[in-house]
Amino acid sequence: MEAFFIYELTLVLGLAIFTGYFVKFHRRRQTYRMRLEDIRPTYRDRPLAQHPIIDETLCLGCGSCAEVCPEGEVLGVIHGKAQLIDPVSCVGHGECAKVCPVSAITIGMPDRQLRADLPLIDEWQQTNVSRLYITGELGGISLIRNAIEQGKTAVAHIASNPHRSTDERVQDVVIIGAGPAGISAALAAEQHKLSYLVLEQQEAGGTIRHFPRQKLVMNRPVSLPLYGKLKRTEYTKEEILKIFEDIVARYQLNIITSQKVSLVRKEKKLFRVVSGNSTYWARHVVLALGRRGTPNKLNVPGEAQPKVAYQLTDARYYQGNDLLVVGGGDSAVEAAIALARQQNNTVTISYRKERFYRIKRRNAELLETFIASGQIIPVFNSQVREIAKAWVVLDTPAGALQIDNDYVFVCIGGTMPFGMLRGAGVQFGGEA
Ligand SMILES: Cc1cc2nc3c(=O)[nH]c(=O)nc-3n(C[C@H](O)[C@H](O)[C@H](O)COP(=O)(O)OP(=O)(O)OC[C@H]3O[C@@H](n4cnc5c(N)ncnc54)[C@H](O)[C@@H]3O)c2cc1C
Repeated sequence: MEAFFIYELTLVLGLAIFTGYFVKFHRRRQTYRMRLEDIRPTYRDRPLAQHPIIDETLCLGCGSCAEVCPEGEVLGVIHGKAQLIDPVSCVGHGECAKVCPVSAITIGMPDRQLRADLPLIDEWQQTNVSRLYITGELGGISLIRNAIEQGKTAVAHIASNPHRSTDERVQDVVIIGAGPAGISAALAAEQHKLSYLVLEQQEAGGTIRHFPRQKLVMNRPVSLPLYGKLKRTEYTKEEILKIFEDIVARYQLNIITSQKVSLVRKEKKLFRVVSGNSTYWARHVVLALGRRGTPNKLNVPGEAQPKVAYQLTDARYYQGNDLLVVGGGDSAVEAAIALARQQNNTVTISYRKERFYRIKRRNAELLETFIASGQIIPVFNSQVREIAKAWVVLDTPAGALQIDNDYVFVCIGGTMPFGMLRGAGVQFGGEA
């Protein structure tokens, strides 16, 4: 009798666990479907850059790829197979590929041949122009780790050519940009005993320098030439910048700052690189310019005032202020949220379209909460007409709107250095 009771109890418990699991599984699948329907009108379901590529013939639909993604719902499982839901959020961590039990996922790019904004490069990062290389984010692949790997790869290829410059006015390699890709390339040049120069328009460190204060930088372990491994998977912005600053000092990297390169031309066998009034000559060039480009401007009266900024690095600085954020992408929305979190700010966000498109779900949800509580005031279909010392004027469908203002943050993207690349002869997708 007792044995029968234990048997029954086990059966009931087993059934309860199975039913619970089944209901949860079913709900999750339904959420993925709804999420995809939600996201389609925003076009985020179409990849722009790196994203998971799923081999449907192998995929078992277990969903471990979707669960593990640190960026949210890049993937989901629909009709028993993994599918792209929000590939625009993918930054290439590759966790999905690592956990897939049947290796059905690889991280790849949209077809480069069809993308007019992606330069064509080979496995050594070399462009169609022989001895001209593109590394890091400029090539379309994000993440610090990838930039470091590509900087090494390009310089290893350059060093495999045994000829060295014998003219001290000609460098073996000029590296343009001192972000992670440029610093890694410089370390590799030191390691291979190449003559080199790094030309950087601002200061060494690249995009990391512009991350918000104390931002957690996610990293997959990667090895830098001479220095060794960056082992941890998380660093703060300040920690990782300090590492790069120490590297520059310890290895006395030949970086010249405040050098904005405006022209790269191959003339016979050498490259001419022009920055301001200076001209440099090199046998090889590594472009490590990133994709931030030059921030787009509003081109309105009053924009030159110091109260206008093109990025927000430390929201804590702004308290008790009237603030305007201009733009409708993730960086604008993140800036508005960070400012609204501070004490006594009035934050207005001006966007030229009728609603926000293409923003991350996490940002969209947070924004909704801040709008609902009145901490962020959105003004859609609006354009900045004028920026004065204590106010700004927006053009809206209802007419001119004047609002009090202490600071303006213009987050409307940047212009890529494509002109310089095309001038150097670099081919892009769709042109080959
Ligand atoms: C908000 C944000 C968060 C991110 N978080 C992470 C994260 O957590 N983990 C991660 O791995 N990655 C993250 N990334 C991505 C990472 O920052 C980039 O992939 C990486 O910085 C690319 O390195 P890079 O060297 O190719 O370019 P960059 O870091 O952009 O460096 C390019 C350098 O080139 C210089 N330059 C540009 N044009 C010229 C010119 N004409 N002349 C001279 N110099 C020039 C620039 O001043 C800059 O210093 C994030 C990016 C952003 C925007």
